[in-house]
Amino acid sequence: MKPIIQEPKMLVRIMAGAIILLLAGNIGSYLVLSARISALAGSMASTTDKLQLAIDQTHQSLSSTLTAQEQNVGALQQQLGGFQSKVGDLSGTLNTLQKLSQTDPELLKKYSKVYFLNDNYVPSHLLEIPPAYEYSDAKQLLIYSNVLLHLEAMIEAASSTGIKLYAFSAYRSFAEQKALKGDYTVVYGAGTANSFSADQGYSEHQLGTAVDMITTGLGGALDGFDRTPAYQWMLNNAYKYGFILSYPKNNGYYVFEPWHWRFVGLKLAADLHTQGKNFYDLDQRTIDTYLVNIFD
Ligand SMILES: [Zn+2]
Repeated sequence: MKPIIQEPKMLVRIMAGAIILLLAGNIGSYLVLSARISALAGSMASTTDKLQLAIDQTHQSLSSTLTAQEQNVGALQQQLGGFQSKVGDLSGTLNTLQKLSQTDPELLKKYSKVYFLNDNYVPSHLLEIPPAYEYSDAKQLLIYSNVLLHLEAMIEAASSTGIKLYAFSAYRSFAEQKALKGDYTVVYGAGTANSFSADQGYSEHQLGTAVDMITTGLGGALDGFDRTPAYQWMLNNAYKYGFILSYPKNNGYYVFEPWHWRFVGLKLAADLHTQGKNFYDLDQRTIDTYLVNIFD
């Protein structure tokens, strides 16, 4: 036998066989590979679908979360608005309370023979009435500090229309009042004095917010003030400066005192004027609602 390699035909066959084998192997590999690729492609397609679905779902979930968040923000903003307005209300209430705590509640109290100021009561702030507004310079008159500007404005306004108005009496301490009542008692007797002027303005003068007004031509007397143009001017204008007539004509509680004016604040005086009512006609509860604004 000749060696295999020496047989060219055989060699060719062997080589051809080898090539066929090689090719067959490659084809097999190719087929396997192709199947794998196709499987991979299928898998990828399904993965892509799944991814897309996941993305869609995430997007949907995110956008619904966003909407919910936006609604929350809206609700929060609304709550905040409500809260801010509550804070506003609260600070308004606090201001009112603070103002009230600094306002003497006695200033708008109704006084009578049954209910009057404590003997020891002294107003917190008193100021001297400038001599130009006083009828006599014999005695320095004092008035509740916040009332002075209103009294001056009233007298100036009257003066600008030719009406002469002066303060005749203003703040009176308990001791002065007692001495004054003593004088009346001596002159008229106890029974009359008790129902007469010494008692009437008692508490209001002790408060420092009441003024007895006088005009020229009366010889320095209060009596007859109601027959003067000054009195008419006061009836028509005093309310604009916060003053009211405590004991008007034909009232049911006290003797008519045309000269005795009490400061009750611009708002209350104006309301009384508009409604044609007297201070002592109102119930105390209604009057008290004006206290916080008495010096506005
Ligand atoms: Zn008086």
